[in-house]
Order: sequence, then structure tokens, then C-alpha cells
Amino acid sequence: MADSTTSRARRAERPATRRPADDRPVYVIGGGPGGLATAAALRARGVRAVVLEKSDRVGDSWRAHYDRLRLHTTRRLSGLPGLAIPRSFGRWVARDDVVRYLEKYAEHHGLEVVTGVEVSRLERTADDAGWLLRATGGRELTGSAVVIATGHNHTPRLPDWPGREAYTGDLLHASAYRNPAPYAGKDVLVVGVGNTGAEIAVDLVEGGAARVRLAVRTAPHIVRRSTAGWPAQRSGILCRRLPLPVVDRLARVVARVSVPDLSARGLPRPRTGLYSRVRQGAIPVQDVGLIDAVRAGRVEPVAAVESFEQDKVVLADGSRVGPDAVIAATGYHRALEPLLGHLGVLDDRGRPRAHGPRTAPGAPDLYFTGFTNPISGMLRELARDAGRIAGAVAKAQARAQARAQAQARAKARAQARAEARG
Ligand SMILES: Cc1cc2nc3c(=O)[nH]c(=O)nc-3n(C[C@H](O)[C@H](O)[C@H](O)COP(=O)(O)OP(=O)(O)OC[C@H]3O[C@@H](n4cnc5c(N)ncnc54)[C@H](O)[C@@H]3O)c2cc1C
Repeated sequence: MADSTTSRARRAERPATRRPADDRPVYVIGGGPGGLATAAALRARGVRAVVLEKSDRVGDSWRAHYDRLRLHTTRRLSGLPGLAIPRSFGRWVARDDVVRYLEKYAEHHGLEVVTGVEVSRLERTADDAGWLLRATGGRELTGSAVVIATGHNHTPRLPDWPGREAYTGDLLHASAYRNPAPYAGKDVLVVGVGNTGAEIAVDLVEGGAARVRLAVRTAPHIVRRSTAGWPAQRSGILCRRLPLPVVDRLARVVARVSVPDLSARGLPRPRTGLYSRVRQGAIPVQDVGLIDAVRAGRVEPVAAVESFEQDKVVLADGSRVGPDAVIAATGYHRALEPLLGHLGVLDDRGRPRAHGPRTAPGAPDLYFTGFTNPISGMLRELARDAGRIAGAVAKAQARAQARAQAQARAKARAQARAEARG
């Protein structure tokens, strides 16, 4: 296969790969943290896993993130199975160090990673005993099982705002933003106040933009990244064990104590509870400077974007603004439909019907990791799902192997009986 990278450096130290009943590998689609973690967990159980990565290196999505990005989850709670993130990377790990860690991770576990291969479609094999993967350059690969780890943040989502096509100003998705240098002295409108929008707005202010407005559709919950050394992520983990109304109430109290009221600055406290919002898919914004910037009037919250006119942006309150640049921090599509929309494994919002160790009806041995947006930290959940998926795959393979052996024994007995008779 062209463009392939295989890191087997430490393979000798690893458990011997058990040959499954049909010796076809498990294909893991995507060489991000989710795919690498699952491949490592499979390997630790003696199951051969091959990671297929469309770009030319692992951790590609992290290489493309903006320069100032650091994990907002702690180093200790963000490591993947079998290799901790080095202490020297600090508590809040920088983007480049995340990339270094992922590269090291693949090497440390001796993972088989084939780069430059994009899987475009998945089908059951003709004998219905595995999966056929159609990939770059007409490749057809068959796997005993498949793990989809192509990422929650797959394809930038730019809303289809009326007038967008005719807009003459600069409009880019946040995925294309790197640093504030091009915006020094400029008037910028950031659209969307998730973690990315909030951080880009602060980055622009600190990087010398003349004016920064932040278009807000729904006021977000804002939490301090850490309070007296206690990281918000730990609270997020604890929340998951408590009933929703309790968390909503607790969060309201904590917010009143730790986050100032920014209503007068255009950022009111949200009416829906924190955990209720999480259940709707919106995790809270971790403060990395937004609170101070809004309080100081350096980031100006404005109404949501409704539409575009030639050189103006029309906001939901009817006002028109004319920024030099619009940066849309408006999220991503999972974009799973072309790959497996025909299999009936996605719901009407394009989300996998099964996740982690469970499989969807009619799609045996097909697993998904990384398609949720948990309050406890995505990397932590990817790490946990990796072990669960590997356990489920190993069990399914052991069952298949036992079935194959029983069939072989039955066949041998029938043959012996036939020989005895005749
Ligand atoms: C800006 C930002 C900051 C984040 N910060 C944190 C944080 O602080 N803490 C935390 O826990 N989480 C964080 N996350 C969330 C999450 O941890 C990351 O998005 C993480 O990279 C998800 O890993 P993944 O493996 O699921 O997907 P990705 O990292 O997106 O990896 C998917 C891989 O699949 C490849 N691929 C896609 N389609 C195909 C195909 N058809 N064939 C072959 N290869 C394919 C891609 O090239 C990519 O390399 C952050 C996310 C973003 C966007």
C-alpha cells in the first residue's frame, strides 16, 4: 500500500496477536486520539488492529487547530490507555504537545497505522461475515470488525445564512483561524459562543484587533476552568452521577458565586440549567479570559447573525454591522452519511444509533467512538470507550472462534461417522 507508515518499534514487548477465526484485521477508521486509543486497547487484548488515516500523519485534527489552543481538560484526565501524557507538558497541555503525545502514543504501542487512505464507504461482505471497506485509489479491504473514529468535529459547519454567497466581506470558519496576527487593527465579528468562539474572541482582543464583537444566539453557561486548584472537569465527571435537577441547581449556585453577572454587558445568565443544556448537546464554556474581556468591554456580545447583505451582517435584533472579518465558530458536521448512511445505523440527526461497546441492530461488529460531547472531557471518554470496545471485539471474536471450532468438530465427527458406515 502506498503512503503507509507502520510503527512497530515496541511490538516485541507486546502480547502476541491472537489469530481470530478468519484472520482479517479489525479496521479502525481515523488516526486521531479515539482511533489510536482503540487500536492500542485492541492490541493489548491480542487483537490485530489496523488504523486507516486519510491524512499523512496521526493527530491531524490537532495539527489544524489554532495556535493558542490548550486542552481545557487536565493532563491527568486526558491521557489515553497505556501511556500517560508527560508531566513536563504541564497541567493544561498545549496543542503542539498534544500532537507530540499522539505521535509518541502510536509509536509506543507499535500501532499499525496506514496513512493516506480515506475510507469512503462501508458494506457487509458478500458472505455477511465481515465488513468491506472501499477506500482511496479503488482499494477494497475486508475486516472482521470496524471501529469508526472519524471524529465528532469532522466537517466545518457554516450555516446557510441568507445572503451569505453575495457577502463581499471576509467570512471564514473557525477551523481556518490560526492566530490573531491578520486581524490586528481590524473590526472582527466572531459568531458563536462555544469554547472555540469564546477563545478566539479573547485571542483577537489580546492580539490587537481594534474591535471584537461576539454574536450570541443562546447565552452559554460559563465555568471557571479551575477554582482553587479544582478543575471544572472533575465537577463534570461528578455531575454525571447526580440527577439532572440537582446538578442544574448546584450549577446555578456555583455560577452566582464564581461568575459575575454580565447581563449589563449583553451576556445574561442562561435560563436553562447547565446539565439540561449538556443533555441538549451544549457543554459549558470554560473561561480562558472571556469573563474579564466582556466585563472590560473588550469583547462585545451582540445578537445572533440572521443574514448577510452585500457588505453588512444583519443581526437578530435588526441591527446591521460592517466588520472587516467574520469568523464563524459554528461547529462541525459528523459527516457520517456518505460512509455509512445506507446501513441504517444513523439517527435522523446523523448520529450513530449505538456507541462504544454496543452495536446497532443489523450491523454486527461495527463500533463507534467519539461521537458524543461529554461534560467529563472527550479525551477521557475516548480512553474509556477504547477499553470497552476492545473488550466487546475480543469477546465477539472469541465467540466466533468457538463457533468455528464447534462447527469443525461437528464436521469431523460427521465425516468419521460417514467413513465408519461406508
Ligand atoms: C478546538 C477543540 C478543542 C478541544 N479540546 C479538548 C480538550 O481540551 N479536552 C478534551 O477532552 N477534548 C477536547 N476536544 C474534543 C476531542 O477530544 C477532540 O476533538 C479529539 O481530537 C477527538 O478525537 P477523535 O479521534 O474522535 O477525532 P479526530 O481527532 O477528529 O480524529 C479523526 C481522524 O479521522 C481521520 N478521518 C476522518 N475521516 C476519515 C476517513 N473517511 N477515512 C480515514 N480517516 C478519516 C481524520 O483525518 C482524523 O485524523 C477538543 C476539540 C476541539 C475541536
